[in-house]
Amino acid sequence: MITTEKQELLLTGNVESAAKKAAKWLLERKPVKTLRDWGISFSLWPPHLTTSCCGTEFGAFAAARFDSERFGLLPFSGARQSNLLVIEGTMTRKMARAVRVVYEQMPEPKYVIAMGACSLEGGIFWNSYNLVLASEIGIPVDIYLPGCPTRPEALARGLLMLQQRIRGKTAQAVVNT
Ligand code: SF4
Repeated sequence: MITTEKQELLLTGNVESAAKKAAKWLLERKPVKTLRDWGISFSLWPPHLTTSCCGTEFGAFAAARFDSERFGLLPFSGARQSNLLVIEGTMTRKMARAVRVVYEQMPEPKYVIAMGACSLEGGIFWNSYNLVLASEIGIPVDIYLPGCPTRPEALARGLLMLQQRIRGKTAQAVVNT
């Protein structure tokens, strides 16, 4: 038995399950948790998924001028190796299903940023029959970024806020641009 000031860990069962339990317990304790959260905040990998024209702003953010890799953000090919979903602007009903599938394929812990007026409240397509908002597809959105289009600077700020949130500091949910 391992005892701490607040909680105790009781190791029972076979060696494998006890080791898994001990590892899980350890990951939730400082300083291991602090180190893990710090590592996650600088290893945010979004899958290549573009829903609309805000995707070009995301592309600009990933390119040489803004250089998203400085923040630890590296667009990745597969959903199963990604942990950050960026919903880029307008999302149609058909695309919303694909976004949902990609989100479900991503491993935990995973985060979501919704950018562009279209994904927040409809934008210029607010009256369209086939538009779905980011808040309507049933996945939790961590950061909302307004603007039409959302500039790469706003994306950088939103990303810094998400990193703060991952590291356990509070962050404003909506970035004012
Ligand atoms: S917010 Fe503007 S730039 Fe972004 S997807 Fe909508 S229309 Fe395009």
